[in-house]
Amino acid sequence: MKVPYIDLSLQHSTIVKELMPQIEKLIVSGQFILGENVKRFEEKFAQFCGVKYAIGVGNGTDALILAMEALDIGVGDEVITAPNSFLASASSIALVGATPVFVDVRNDFNIDPDQIRYAITSKTKAIMPVHLTGKPADMDPIMEIAKKHNLYVIEDSAQAVGAEYKGEKTGSIGTLGCFSLHPLKNLSAIGDGGIITCNDKSIYHKLLLLRNHGLINRDECVLWGFNSRLDALQSVILEVKLNHLKRWELRRREIAGFYQSELYNIVEVPRDKEFEKSVYHTFIIQTEQRDALMKFLAKNNIDTKVHYPIPIHLQQAAKYLNYKKGDFPIAEKQDDKILSLPIFPELSNNQIDYVVKNIKEFF
Ligand SMILES: *Cc1c(COP(=O)(O)O)cnc(C)c1O
Repeated sequence: MKVPYIDLSLQHSTIVKELMPQIEKLIVSGQFILGENVKRFEEKFAQFCGVKYAIGVGNGTDALILAMEALDIGVGDEVITAPNSFLASASSIALVGATPVFVDVRNDFNIDPDQIRYAITSKTKAIMPVHLTGKPADMDPIMEIAKKHNLYVIEDSAQAVGAEYKGEKTGSIGTLGCFSLHPLKNLSAIGDGGIITCNDKSIYHKLLLLRNHGLINRDECVLWGFNSRLDALQSVILEVKLNHLKRWELRRREIAGFYQSELYNIVEVPRDKEFEKSVYHTFIIQTEQRDALMKFLAKNNIDTKVHYPIPIHLQQAAKYLNYKKGDFPIAEKQDDKILSLPIFPELSNNQIDYVVKNIKEFF
């Protein structure tokens, strides 16, 4: 028995027959940049998230960058985020000229609203909660703090398409929601892609300009914009995949439920609060014996990962921010204990049985 961490080939072999006619139609249409296919996917995605607008962009990192550009966040501004995310949460802040300010997380890997309160200064312009692992951050207190201090909230929802907090989809709660459509994410293109969600019409219009050279028509440019558009080819693929997302999400939650019920008394397992719906982009267990367990599972042909081995504040690129080891004790402690188990929808019951059996055997 072999259990890969993810198998994109398997997912796509089940839907390739459905994708090919759409791809063929798109190729013959000759409409490769923006146009009706992109628009149709954006509308469906907005509807799925329960927002008015969605803007397809080049990738998830660009979604964050364009979101901050649209809100005029830049030099001299601070944006508060979590140190345990994928590094793009922080690099995007730095790349618009602002300063990433990290605060520690809670045991569920998401930003601790109480720590946000202490990190706010006169320069703070926005909070960027990350819905890490596909589990929603604690949005009520975050929105309350933002309101009190007049801050924007940019949701990094790259891992959390479809997740819900008190019945609302992640990406629909803050000022803007940013999603990645990278092949490894729950809703994925066959290459890079990203999308931004919002309810504000003027922000929406600014984002349309920002992703397309600032052009209001073929020849007239009203602001310096980026070239960061979701390809029409990706849009037609994503439109097909969006129809499968619910089913894939259910399977992820089913696998998570199985891991939870089988493993809760041996390792620390993630749990949904009653008002949360997590979409389990990753299923991260915590154990003091992480390294040995990882090795044991690898020896038995079970592939696992660590998301992420180096917290962002300790990356070489972040050196100039002057953080040091010990600044975020919870995130750093988790870093030695976290292990992501395979949880993609196409895993068979035999495979997840095998994962559980081996973890039990190890302990
Ligand atoms: C994947 C990811 C991103 C970046 O998305 P890309 O499409 O790879 O640019 C940003 N934030 C988080 C939390 C992610 O998981």
